[in-house]
Amino acid sequence: MIIALIGLGNMGLPMAANLLKAGHTVTGFDLNPDLVAKHVEAGGKGAASIAEAIRGAEAIVTMLPAGRHVDTVYLGPGGILENINTRPILIDSSTIDVATAQKVAAAADGRGIAMLDAPVSGGTGGAIAGTLTFMCGGTDAAFAAAKPVLQGMGKNIIHAGAAGAGQAAKICNNMMLAVAMCGVAEAFVMADKLGLDRQKLWDITSTSTGQSWALTTYCPAPGPVPTAPSGRDYTGGFASALMLKDLKLAQDAAESVGAPTPLGAHAAAIYQALNDAGEGGRDFSVVFKWLSGLARGEVA
Ligand code: NAD
Repeated sequence: MIIALIGLGNMGLPMAANLLKAGHTVTGFDLNPDLVAKHVEAGGKGAASIAEAIRGAEAIVTMLPAGRHVDTVYLGPGGILENINTRPILIDSSTIDVATAQKVAAAADGRGIAMLDAPVSGGTGGAIAGTLTFMCGGTDAAFAAAKPVLQGMGKNIIHAGAAGAGQAAKICNNMMLAVAMCGVAEAFVMADKLGLDRQKLWDITSTSTGQSWALTTYCPAPGPVPTAPSGRDYTGGFASALMLKDLKLAQDAAESVGAPTPLGAHAAAIYQALNDAGEGGRDFSVVFKWLSGLARGEVA
């Protein structure tokens, strides 16, 4: 297929590389020309504008930072809907607010063009390996049209429901994950204080009812899971700043529908404090290190 990919950042660039590997023709555009040059080096075509990137495209994929960027790229002057001259399937894989996802999909629908919100889980590792999970929101027809494109970049492709449902699934998942991570970190800080060996606690809880992905794969206390980011001073992995972004999206969504999320709100406050303490660039399991500092009276 002829595909345009807009937003060649940490995620978009390796996703474009996998689409190339799958045999598609991929024209890339980013505000940063260095990233367009990297895409060309990898065998893709480069464009100097959105209009140029989407000319003749059968599918357009966007991977942008936040809702305001998605709004601008689709609806703004010089944007996708203004310049579209074919009937491509539109796929936005950015993590954004549900309201913007629905607004952009409705605008596309008004032009008779199908759109899918398809945020991902799996991080940069999954983007490089082509093993991302896509959570999709849109019509059955939009999902069917997007599937061959998504298969080039991911392993699990799930149709969650109507427009916005992909974004809803993404923020529900990440809110669960943040709450679980904070819980595991608190328990390990308390265990340290109680003189309980970390490995013994992990051996017991990983086969008991306290078990979770945050514990078994990403244990925030250094030691029990050497491959986790806690084993390399919380580098790599999923940045706390991105987790904070998702928790804020979850809080906005919860407020808009009157859903009670006291633990989600508390997790958002914890990640805000972590970011304010300068830990935004570290993996989100760094909450253990931050709580340990609190336990020692080192941080306010
Ligand atoms: P990034 O900041 O590395 O990349 C975004 C790119 O979009 C940048 O290169 C930027 O120049 C470009 N851009 C911004 N405005 C543009 C415009 N108007 N026209 C063209 N290009 C524009 O971000 P990322 O890490 O690749 O993340 C992208 C999205 O994926 C975010 O919504 C993020 O929340 C989500 N996500 C990221 C991860 C991760 O681990 N990085 C995991 C899951 C989901």
